[in-house]
Amino acid sequence: MFTVSLVQQKVLSDSTIELKFQRDDGEPVVFVPGQFFRFVFTDVDGEFERSYSLCNLTPDTTGILLLVISKVDGGRATRLLFNAECGLKASVTGPFGRLVLPEKLPKRLFLVATSVGIAPYLPMLGALSGPLCRDEIEVFLLLGVRDPSEFIYATELVDFQHRYPRFHLRVCYSRRLPDSPRSFEGSGYVQDYLPAVMTNQDLVMLCGNPMMVDACFDKLKQAGLSSRQVIREKYVFAKQTTVKPPSALSAEQKRLIEEKMQKYRS
Ligand SMILES: Cc1cc2nc3c(=O)[nH]c(=O)nc-3n(C[C@H](O)[C@H](O)[C@H](O)COP(=O)(O)OP(=O)(O)OC[C@H]3O[C@@H](n4cnc5c(N)ncnc54)[C@H](O)[C@@H]3O)c2cc1C
Repeated sequence: MFTVSLVQQKVLSDSTIELKFQRDDGEPVVFVPGQFFRFVFTDVDGEFERSYSLCNLTPDTTGILLLVISKVDGGRATRLLFNAECGLKASVTGPFGRLVLPEKLPKRLFLVATSVGIAPYLPMLGALSGPLCRDEIEVFLLLGVRDPSEFIYATELVDFQHRYPRFHLRVCYSRRLPDSPRSFEGSGYVQDYLPAVMTNQDLVMLCGNPMMVDACFDKLKQAGLSSRQVIREKYVFAKQTTVKPPSALSAEQKRLIEEKMQKYRS
């Protein structure tokens, strides 16, 4: 566990912000591209925990945790973070998660996301640039958003596509297309753009909206993919809004206390 302070916030769109946190102890943030951290924030009602993927574009050496966060109506973290000022503190644990690149890369890698589900893929791009240059892999990034204002990190992604011909970007707009859509932009949902036939040389990562993850998974199974060729991370909503109080005791701790109480009583 370490503590962090907010050092910068940036509005990316009406519904998305980017927050830069800095470790208070100055240590680097050790994580594998794709992993997430758990943040405990404090608001007027006390402490509560939320998970966020790290979207640092480059490996961290300076203790920076970059988050991209989407607005949820009535959301507790949304209320705090969309109005946050520099200096906001959080306690952080992690890294967690298995949405990471395998040691042996597949021939074709599909990175599929909705909205801020793009976050874990951004740190992966650096790791993929070498294999892309050497023609060892073909990468397809499918991003689903509602309208053009939500196409975040557009400059970085389009630039990456220009630099690496084996990197294919596809942005799917579910509500409104740009006025002049580019060749990689289309209407519909990401699942509409998954290949109908997949091979055992493929790996698919799915991240973001749980409904999208399930819809894609069903389609991939129909296309012949086995479950171990799909890595899923659902941005499920927090069930528990408060952090367990430290008094939440394990069975063993309860047994020891009971033993001591017995001795005390006798
Ligand atoms: C592994 C993991 C990684 C995650 N990474 C990110 C990330 O990088 N960026 C990010 O923005 N979020 C991420 N999330 C989601 C994040 O943890 C919070 O759930 C999210 O920010 C909403 O929190 P909130 O407190 O604002 O809303 P809450 O107070 O938790 O929810 C308020 C209400 O809105 C509903 N709700 C919550 N979220 C949504 C939603 N997305 N769509 C529709 N209704 C919703 C809830 O059911 C509830 O009724 C991740 C979640 C997981 C599990």
